[in-house]
Amino acid sequence: MSEEERADILLTGGHVWTGLDRPDPIDTVVVRRGRIVATGRAADLAWARGPRTRVIPLAGRLLLPAFQDAHAHPILAGLEMSRCWLAGDPDVPTAYLRTIAEYAAEHPERPWVEGGGWSMAAFPRGVARATMLDKVTGSRPAYIETRDGHSAWVNSAALAIAGITATTPDPPLGRIERDERGGAVGTLHGAAMGLVSRCLPGVGAQEWEEALVRGQAELHRLGVGAWQEALVDHVHQATYLTVLGRGQLTGRAALALLWDHGRGPEQVAGLVARRAAVSAIDPARLHANLVKVFQDGVVESRTAAMLAPYLDGAGRPTVGRGSSVYHPDALRAMFVALDGARFAIHTHAIGDRAVRETLDALTAARLTNGPRDGRHQVAHLQFVDPADQPRFRALGVIATCQPSRARREGRLEELTRSLVGPARADAMYPYGSLARLGASLAVGSDWPAATADPLGVLHVAIHRAAPERPDLEPLGPAAERLSPEVVLRAYTRGSALANGLDDTGTIEPGRAADLVVLDRDPLAAPGRSFAQARVLLTMVDGRVVWEDPRPSA
Ligand SMILES: [Zn+2]
Repeated sequence: MSEEERADILLTGGHVWTGLDRPDPIDTVVVRRGRIVATGRAADLAWARGPRTRVIPLAGRLLLPAFQDAHAHPILAGLEMSRCWLAGDPDVPTAYLRTIAEYAAEHPERPWVEGGGWSMAAFPRGVARATMLDKVTGSRPAYIETRDGHSAWVNSAALAIAGITATTPDPPLGRIERDERGGAVGTLHGAAMGLVSRCLPGVGAQEWEEALVRGQAELHRLGVGAWQEALVDHVHQATYLTVLGRGQLTGRAALALLWDHGRGPEQVAGLVARRAAVSAIDPARLHANLVKVFQDGVVESRTAAMLAPYLDGAGRPTVGRGSSVYHPDALRAMFVALDGARFAIHTHAIGDRAVRETLDALTAARLTNGPRDGRHQVAHLQFVDPADQPRFRALGVIATCQPSRARREGRLEELTRSLVGPARADAMYPYGSLARLGASLAVGSDWPAATADPLGVLHVAIHRAAPERPDLEPLGPAAERLSPEVVLRAYTRGSALANGLDDTGTIEPGRAADLVVLDRDPLAAPGRSFAQARVLLTMVDGRVVWEDPRPSA
């Protein structure tokens, strides 16, 4: 045998979870020139070991396909990581204010205090006040987004610069929190954020590129080899192309181009041109075959579109059911045009009415254009009416789950519960039902709105409870828990399908060598938690993109 036929990398001697439906038990994977060339038993693959082969022992470990995130914002996360980021703090105002004060003192050169990562759960009724922020920022304007990016906390200087007064109307799809006299108190929701964010100093091209590389490195550290960038404008697109051109895109990225809310289906031709520009270079590494559409907001600010009304603080129904971003007729026309142009449509839908309208529009697209392997996907799925749950399978629509939120989490959940009542709250995130009904599942973390750590997310998906909060009861009925097998498949093969990276997602000969090694095997015994494992190594295309520098046990 010639040296060229030997393995570059041989992973051997442990549990290999392949993601295949009927896997043969194997303990060895042979990687050459970036691809998996053989799998099997060590004794049968002894030929693959040559003098230049790197041997990675798997004894007591677990080898998986690299995780894929089907909904994340690594470029924004990378930017946030370099700014005032509150998600690591306890969700109480004093902790936030301490971090903001420190950041402001450390960065006197920045004209604005910019950041994110706070939770509405930290404040009474979710409303953060400008006057609190003024105490630590003084006259310097401040703009700090919530962890989910759907609301912002601003100070008095920012309100003044933006010209927001008691007479400023709420913009369409936005809301300014006000006092009794109509004055803005410091929290802006949805489109109202734009009143201030348009005044922020711009982010330069180099800053964006550094943000992408930083976000990518963090994903690799967590075992993620590929992801879908779930909201891509022209700047993000240019950033990806630059980083790819420099050879610095070590992961794979599927770009979901943001639908311009201000325009109609006439914009499809422009999206097609952008797709062609992005996908021309190395489509197995970077493509833009997706379009992102928002059909509603979030429950906490009552902007999720619900079938039944929200409740007031005393448990009585209000008149509000949240607002759909698009009228159902408009959504249908958009989806017919996008599907006709062979885009995969990725829709943000949190409320059960938004989910229904999305499925209705996808049905119309299918009827008009005929069935195809469209890879359309609906993300978040906090509320899905039981009548709509079988439609995912029937329509071939991917359910992009966000299991990190499918748990009790103290005050944020109390806020949600107070707005929807106990019955709807207990039925949130019906991922077990969707799986049983045959929906194709993917996992999207929504990082930085929530953790991107697959091991922590796996724990929550399996237990419906957070590893760090064993004191809280699981969320909802046990039937909504996902088995380790189902959620692992969703996080690898299922997300690869959603990301349109068909060369990845399973361990089998011919696939790209996108792999991850865990330091232990949580599948070996029931009750072991993924949350206790750590990622030793992440590989993309046969190249090690992250390796734990700590000695392994
Ligand atoms: Zn998102």
